[in-house]
Amino acid sequence: MQKYQIAVLPGDGIGPEVVQEGMKVLLKLQDLDTSFTFESTTFEWNSNYYIKHGRMMPNDGLEKLKTYDAVFFGALGDKRVEEHIPVWELIMPIRKQFQQYVNLRPIKQLNGITSPLQNEEPIDFYVFRENAEGEYSNSGGRIYDQTDQAMAIQNTIITKKGVERIATYAFDYARKNEISRVVSATKSNAIIHSMKLWDDVVNEVALDYDGIELDSIYVDALAAYFVNKPHTFEVLVASNLFGDILTDLGAALVGGLGLSPSANLNPERNFPSMFEPIHGSAPDIAGKKIANPIAQIWSAALMLEHFGRDDLAAKIMHAIEAVLVNGEVLTPDLGGNASTSEVGDAIIQELDKQL
Ligand code: ATP
Repeated sequence: MQKYQIAVLPGDGIGPEVVQEGMKVLLKLQDLDTSFTFESTTFEWNSNYYIKHGRMMPNDGLEKLKTYDAVFFGALGDKRVEEHIPVWELIMPIRKQFQQYVNLRPIKQLNGITSPLQNEEPIDFYVFRENAEGEYSNSGGRIYDQTDQAMAIQNTIITKKGVERIATYAFDYARKNEISRVVSATKSNAIIHSMKLWDDVVNEVALDYDGIELDSIYVDALAAYFVNKPHTFEVLVASNLFGDILTDLGAALVGGLGLSPSANLNPERNFPSMFEPIHGSAPDIAGKKIANPIAQIWSAALMLEHFGRDDLAAKIMHAIEAVLVNGEVLTPDLGGNASTSEVGDAIIQELDKQL
């Protein structure tokens, strides 16, 4: 029997509400399938913790997390704490220290979901977003603050190694899945140093993959293509910022943030990988019990895939799609009036039917 240790970080706002549903689904799977079991430990490292202790996690927080097979994360963000604090004191340290340099974001139109586009063909592609460097760096600074000469420098860090490993991961995925085209998001006509290095390295990586075409497209044109011809994408590789923006747009095309999961992967498995919805803590709906838990539950499916249990992940996805197609138990973001836990329960009922 396979046994996994999962660190659970529910976070703030709707984070705990949707994580609860994700855990309910995992527990149900464990009941139904005896080949899989897990133990979980919940870490309440959130904005309340920060207000109490002046830090987002204990000194040895990363050491603690390191011993787990995966981190199952909700969302962080609370108006009492400055926005950059949870990002730079918890999320970024986990992503960077655990070398989770692949941020995988499926943009997939599930059965039962209508896109705001008049698309005839289904949208189904993977975005591999560079997750450890790029535009999201804390290198830089401000001088002459509060004066007319106020000045800020924000450095983008692009390294050969960093681009090589994300591009290789994307091309490997394409090869494994017999996909013949990889799109790279660039802007090397305007960002002539960092994006040019990005292009050079992606081109170099592509040479090792016979039969897979590399298509480098400017990110502004890509935004338009996401709307005009999203069905033409299968694998897209992008820098940290470009990937972040494009995937929020992608999410909007396939049902919104409530349906969009992500995996922060350390492919070498030297450290735990982390699974989380792409949405934030959604303070506007927190506590109302109306958050859509599907992005979080889908993230649990990505975690199972990472454990090599594609079979169990497929069961979760099948159950999610059955609930969507049925259309009776949906949260308000999808036009329904069900609560977060009612959607979780409906997915569990579908799992029961399958197993
Ligand atoms: P943060 O700063 O933590 O990212 P935010 O409110 O700026 O928070 P999101 O939390 O991603 O950004 O929310 C953006 C919008 O999407 C909000 O209106 C929110 O209510 C909605 N939203 C996000 N996640 C969900 C969800 N799971 N179910 C329903 N609506 C959601």
